[in-house]
Amino acid sequence: MERTGPVRADGSLSEATIILLHAVSQVDLELLRAVRIRPSRSNWFRAPWYRYHRGGAITIGRTIWFTRIWFAPDGSGDGSLRSTWKWLLHLAHEVGHLPQAERFGRSLWGKARYVAAFTWQYGSRALLLRRPIHDGSRLEREADLGRQVLMQLIGQAGSDHPVVTAIHEGDAQATRKWCAQNTAKITALAANYREHNSVSARS
Ligand SMILES: [Zn+2]
Repeated sequence: MERTGPVRADGSLSEATIILLHAVSQVDLELLRAVRIRPSRSNWFRAPWYRYHRGGAITIGRTIWFTRIWFAPDGSGDGSLRSTWKWLLHLAHEVGHLPQAERFGRSLWGKARYVAAFTWQYGSRALLLRRPIHDGSRLEREADLGRQVLMQLIGQAGSDHPVVTAIHEGDAQATRKWCAQNTAKITALAANYREHNSVSARS
């Protein structure tokens, strides 16, 4: 079954999606090509650390598990332009976890340590009553770079934006052109986000 939108039938990202996510998140092309998107098994979402995670996705190793709602024909899997935009925003955050997962290592032990790091960050913040728990953790702020850049670039326009249409239609050439035209803006937004986050990380 061939479908339009950011994710191909085999769970890989479309070329247009890879180009945009690489531009906004600065995650390596190699990682973006290797990642697979899968419908989650329900047991992930009973894990105690999971409830803190935003919006129904979790990145483990090179797999991003999305809850089944994301694939529902009457939900975010309806193949509409609007769902493409929703997917892009959420992917822009989740792919930010890919380099982190690489840093922790891809062995079972590495994956366990990665999950433990999240549990610790959420748990310790909850204990100190610091909020928001999810967005406040260091790993989460780091991962959110791409989503923040994307929001500031086209957040208001949403699914009406031409680059969202280009990705929806699988137009890699138009996406590449748009990214090239916006390189300076993207670089400035990313630098600004990093600067603000190193400030709040120390407070
Ligand atoms: Zn996250």
